[in-house]
Amino acid sequence: MVKIVIDPGHEGVENNLDPGAVANGLKEAALTLRIAKYIYDMLNEYEGVQVRLTRTGNQRLTLSQRAKMANDWGADVFISTHINAGKGTGFESYIYNGGVSSQTVALQNVLHNEILAAMRQFGNITDRGKKRANYAVLRETKMPAVLTENLFIDSNDAKLLKNEAFLKAVGEAHARGIAKFLGLPQKSTPSQPQQKSSDGKLYRVQVGAFSDRKNAERLAEELKKKGYPAIIV
Ligand SMILES: [Zn+2]
Repeated sequence: MVKIVIDPGHEGVENNLDPGAVANGLKEAALTLRIAKYIYDMLNEYEGVQVRLTRTGNQRLTLSQRAKMANDWGADVFISTHINAGKGTGFESYIYNGGVSSQTVALQNVLHNEILAAMRQFGNITDRGKKRANYAVLRETKMPAVLTENLFIDSNDAKLLKNEAFLKAVGEAHARGIAKFLGLPQKSTPSQPQQKSSDGKLYRVQVGAFSDRKNAERLAEELKKKGYPAIIV
């Protein structure tokens, strides 16, 4: 099992909690949670993963507590989602500016590219670059950790941040990036209804094996005409 921690930046929108940046009727802590939940949902479509959010709602939580949660659990990947402020525009990602593993650099690369590509489905997005900084959650976590700054809350970028489809696409791009980095297989979705016997076992019937594909296709056609689902493997 691979363990992934998703950290929605800041604390929440209730009184006395840290809301992060606030502008244009938006609060960073609410947006980071939306994105984190989309990441969480999509990661659960992959095999062999366990995902935890550092917070699932409005909650007081220090930066060190977030890192400790990931360290104590033995997480393999840590991702913190944020929204930028300062009237700029575009997307940037961060890893720790001290010693980092090549794995951390690789995670930043794959995530950064995946997220930027998804954002650009919605318009021109400035690539502010793959950056490094001395952020506590990056410094104190022991596993590959990346912090994303998903556009600016106090500029024209806010238009996109008000678009739920955009937040979903950004979340899903995070998940795809993580899955690529970890090489996670997607859960197999049965493309046809499977008939299970009463004891829960699944039986397959094979009617022919051919060295010549044409012969296999001929039999498959014949079976389909008679109303049997037939596949060639
Ligand atoms: Zn922030």
